[in-house]
Amino acid sequence: GNNKPPRFTIAVFEGDGIGPEIMKPTVALLREISVATGAFSLDFETVPAGATHYAKHGVSLPEESMKTAKEADAILLSAMGMPDIRYPDGTEISPQIELRMELGLFAGVRPVIIQPGQGSPLKVAEERGIDFVIIRESTEGLFASHGKGRINDNISAEETLVITREVSEKLFEFAFNLARRRKETGRGPGRVHCVDKANVFQAFAFFRSIFDEVAARHRDIKADAAYVDAAALWMVQRPQIFDVLVTENMFGDILSDLGAGLMGSLGLAPSADIGSDHAVFQPCHGSAPDIAGRNIANPLAMILSAAMMLEWLGQKSGTAEMQTVSDSLSGAVADVMAAGSAKTPDLGGTASTDDVAEAVLEAFRNRT
Ligand code: ATP
Ligand code: MG
Repeated sequence: GNNKPPRFTIAVFEGDGIGPEIMKPTVALLREISVATGAFSLDFETVPAGATHYAKHGVSLPEESMKTAKEADAILLSAMGMPDIRYPDGTEISPQIELRMELGLFAGVRPVIIQPGQGSPLKVAEERGIDFVIIRESTEGLFASHGKGRINDNISAEETLVITREVSEKLFEFAFNLARRRKETGRGPGRVHCVDKANVFQAFAFFRSIFDEVAARHRDIKADAAYVDAAALWMVQRPQIFDVLVTENMFGDILSDLGAGLMGSLGLAPSADIGSDHAVFQPCHGSAPDIAGRNIANPLAMILSAAMMLEWLGQKSGTAEMQTVSDSLSGAVADVMAAGSAKTPDLGGTASTDDVAEAVLEAFRNRT
């Protein structure tokens, strides 16, 4: 129609290592898609942060960058941190964790998808076409005491596990709503598994009871529960039973690496960290300094993260067309994988980062 397409400001963290190399073609691709579809328009604001920035300027996440991130409609982030650049106390530089805490990004969304033509180390995963999502609570749980753990006189040590009703309710609402959207778009059967250890820990029994309460408000979606040990077993033995898994911070940390392992390559694993008002979209992998500067990094995890950003912005602004564009973009990635013609070295090919991004744009054009 004649309606003006919605306009969004995106804060862009190019970060360290391969970060700028995978971000540049992704931003270029988003610009092309926005022009080609006319469904939305994006203003990109590149903001400095990360280990390289710390080495030069003595600060890893400048206040000005945090301010821009807060004011933006969404945040696109590649990777931050370098093995050789650390804080004086030896800890890693990871402003992405500060962003998560400061912006209240409680839902860490980690899709596990086996791309066509991409072998998985698991035969069952490869054959059944796996597509499920892990939602990792990202602000409390066993990470709530981060930096506050205690060692008592070299005799014992303690950490605290915190589960709050407020965050858990938001988390489970998010999980059920995601399962419903997946059901409506034919991606999943509409099923949520609460993954916990409610048989052993009070805190998880509480977590489970809140899950049951929220489940009762979403009768159209099947609610299940699994102990985390069983969930790990099933992710390997029968991953096809899963649609949406929702879990505590530490369990989610571990299970999402297991999920990335199922996918066959880190270069294919996207993620989103979503809060009530803000969200960061970034690939699961790190800054890969071992291959930086050579235009051989796989941009697909970054591009798939950008597709998740378009979907989220579309929901937030009520722009249904953006869901279609997002689906076409992740579909274009699947087409490139199925064709097998543009693969970076991590997938056994010889294509460059830019070649792959171009192939995705061409596949996108062929779909729309
Ligand atoms: P972090 O601690 O920051 O999460 P990491 O040190 O565990 O990261 P990565 O930086 O993700 O690990 O790199 C792990 C391995 O995967 C490296 O050998 C790297 O080259 C490879 N890798 C990571 N991302 C990509 C990518 N996009 N394309 C190709 N190879 C990648
Ligand atoms: Mg790294």
